[in-house]
Amino acid sequence: MFDKVLIANRGEIALRIQRACKELGIATVAVHSTADADAMHVRLADESVCIGPPPASESYLNIPRLLAACEITGADAVHPGYGFLSENARFAEILEEHQITFIGPTSEHIRIMGDKIEAKETAKRLGIPVVPGSDGAVTTEAEALAVAKAMGYPVLIKAASGGGGRGMKVARSEAEIGSALSTARAEAKAAFGDDSVYIEKYLQKPRHIEIQVFGDGRGNAVHLGERDCSLQRRHQKVWEEAPSPALNDAQRQKIGSTVAAAMQKLKYRGAGTVEFLYEDGEFYFIEMNTRLQVEHPVTEAITGIDLVLEQLRVASGSPLSMRQEDITFSGHAIECRINAENPKTFRPSPGKITYWHPPGGLGVRVDSGVYQGYRIPPNYDSLIGKLIVHGKNRNECLMRLRRCLSEFVIDGVETTTPLFSELVRQPDIVNGIYDIHWLERFLGKQD
Ligand code: ADP
Repeated sequence: MFDKVLIANRGEIALRIQRACKELGIATVAVHSTADADAMHVRLADESVCIGPPPASESYLNIPRLLAACEITGADAVHPGYGFLSENARFAEILEEHQITFIGPTSEHIRIMGDKIEAKETAKRLGIPVVPGSDGAVTTEAEALAVAKAMGYPVLIKAASGGGGRGMKVARSEAEIGSALSTARAEAKAAFGDDSVYIEKYLQKPRHIEIQVFGDGRGNAVHLGERDCSLQRRHQKVWEEAPSPALNDAQRQKIGSTVAAAMQKLKYRGAGTVEFLYEDGEFYFIEMNTRLQVEHPVTEAITGIDLVLEQLRVASGSPLSMRQEDITFSGHAIECRINAENPKTFRPSPGKITYWHPPGGLGVRVDSGVYQGYRIPPNYDSLIGKLIVHGKNRNECLMRLRRCLSEFVIDGVETTTPLFSELVRQPDIVNGIYDIHWLERFLGKQD
């Protein structure tokens, strides 16, 4: 096992990873920008290194500075968390060249899955069902028109290097193809420095259902069930739950074993998520994330498996500690992403938290990096915490969630907790009947 792990991240996920390291007796190194000098992940780490000014490009995304921090502290491994450099194949490669372990998959797998066109081809080859779409990239309007005509409208133009819901444009008819193509390409170029795009059939009422996988890089791989992340705003997840209200056990086992078999063939190492859209009983692969996800705690709640501990074990060279038949699912879990944002306009609300009282009790977990008196800097993502509630069944989980939301007090900044208090009372949510467009429709009606 490692002696010292450097955590190349901030906020709740940096703390989450520290906790797992501490349980295994591994020393932790926090890195931080000058904006984060007072952050909890810095306070609780064994050591910390300031790696630069607030802009992420000069700190959390700056590879030479992170390498220097590893060297100064003698860290023998780096956990990238999610976001920032977690899916940067070059970062993984550079660390390995310096004999520092990257806690994640091989750089080759990161690279394949980071290009969504190649990821789809790979998934297809491994026997995973994919969304119908173009064979590879589409460059000219004539090509796009031909693909869309063959598939039928509406279609979705997506960035090959896409992420965070950016670089995605719907075209509902021939007349919209030209502008959708040029806008998607321009957005992709600006966000990812790569303007390659591809086309997919635009599904009208799918759910977003993703499968958590784990491999040890030696051909052992398992699935840990699904998460339903259909409640989204601007293609970004807001509420996640496991199991999905839309699946039964047989469907879960079928898609889970297809994905696990694919990961065995790929010799995948570490934690990963294979994302699907699910419509009319069919699964369609959209992408694979080669890292820990924000929503991993819902899987931890229903399986009792600590995914970060397992990441550390596998990265240090141990074989997978679980077999498929050891993994069982118990009860139901829901996660709410608490953002420091206005709950109606979603305008970020940085500033000082004057009062912080998180809920507690059986089946309640709050993963957060903030505290009373903490000043949320304006420079980063507005996620300040995650409320994860577990119950014996979905009904108990919803009742507990309602209680937790009424107990949660956060003063000084605006947060999205009032939105969840409303959601948890909506009949469609209570009945589990919602697709990826439900939340946008709900928010639209409220204006
Ligand atoms: P990103 O990498 O930017 O997160 P994804 O490919 O994972 O992009 O898609 C994000 C979300 O966009 C999905 O969860 C879904 O809501 C929507 N989406 C993506 N592809 C399609 C599609 N073919 N049809 C309908 N909605 C889609």
